[in-house]
Amino acid sequence: MSGFDKERVLEEIQERLRSVSLAGSPGNPISAGMVERVIAHQGQVNLILNIPPDLVGAKDKIKGDIDAAINAIDGVNQVQILEKLPTQAAGGGGGGGAPAGAPGGAPQSAQDVPGVRHIIAVASGKGGVGKSTVAVNLAVALAKNHRVGLLDSDVYGPSVPKMLNLENQRPEALPGERILPIEAHGVKTMSIGYLLDDESPVIWRGPMVTGLLRQFLFQVEWGQLDYLVLDLPPGTGDAQLTLVQSIALGGGVIVTTPQDVALLDVRRGIQMFQRVEVPILGIVENMSTFVCPHCSKESEIFTGRGGQDAAERYGVPFLGSIPLDPRYATAGDAGTPIASTVPDSPLAQTIDKVAIDIARALP
Ligand code: ADP
Repeated sequence: MSGFDKERVLEEIQERLRSVSLAGSPGNPISAGMVERVIAHQGQVNLILNIPPDLVGAKDKIKGDIDAAINAIDGVNQVQILEKLPTQAAGGGGGGGAPAGAPGGAPQSAQDVPGVRHIIAVASGKGGVGKSTVAVNLAVALAKNHRVGLLDSDVYGPSVPKMLNLENQRPEALPGERILPIEAHGVKTMSIGYLLDDESPVIWRGPMVTGLLRQFLFQVEWGQLDYLVLDLPPGTGDAQLTLVQSIALGGGVIVTTPQDVALLDVRRGIQMFQRVEVPILGIVENMSTFVCPHCSKESEIFTGRGGQDAAERYGVPFLGSIPLDPRYATAGDAGTPIASTVPDSPLAQTIDKVAIDIARALP
């Protein structure tokens, strides 16, 4: 690990924090139990502070002192301090537009992920509509201008490893039960698919999903991310609801195909996000038209405007449509995301526009 001695740095952080004073109050950040978590990785230190009520007024001074103390450590070149304020029930710090606890007995426990500015969940009413295709390409498109992670939480059909040609990769385990994400096309990725083989019984997967997702969110060394794209399991049932309500999401994207049956599911997707007060960034319609692989002519397959009508009906943004093009499926299977490999394709152009819209909505 290129000369970064994590054990030493962690020890030194402890030691130096003990000499930071608390703006007139007795003790130091460690003795006051303020330091909830320290993550050190290759020169970068992330620290989560619990600010007690009586020190909220002095938090900037304390943070500044802590920052200076840690920055002085040999080998540290970046320090990020995240604070949890005592009144913060859910979705507060850094999330910008993240949900508060929803009414009617909904969650109190939506949590921010340290170092991650915005988490964007990509959902669909059912499988096979192109949710993962959109999630993967969206992450790749966002990564052209931002720091991006992609978390594949689709236990039933994790497709991120295949779509990014990372199938035989295994994430590296770090000391302290940390996991290193696997990077491709500028995106830090983590997938249940890296840990399961195809033979793992499906029945075993359902109950794991929430626990594993939490582990992936909080134990993976995401570092500093502007966006973490979360590829949800298909559907809008209890499992998905549990996921979206346990994390402070910045927004949700719904992927649909234009048929009426799929559009019915859009309503459920919208309701799922609304129940937990997650802003809906919009609808992406996939497989809208068919592009002939021989003559490249584009044909309408379905009448009506599908996703666009649904967006208007439910008052959410329509982000764009992607044609059905057999080359996209081939690219998905080959692990070469179109957003990066064929930038002038309709898919790449739509997804670039979606990325721009999302970055505007969640700066
Ligand atoms: P989901 O995540 O909704 O189950 P996927 O993104 O895995 O769906 O897509 C299902 C299959 O359809 C994959 O083989 C994928 O490559 C293919 N696919 C997705 N979108 C398109 C498209 N616009 N044109 C052609 N094939 C597509």
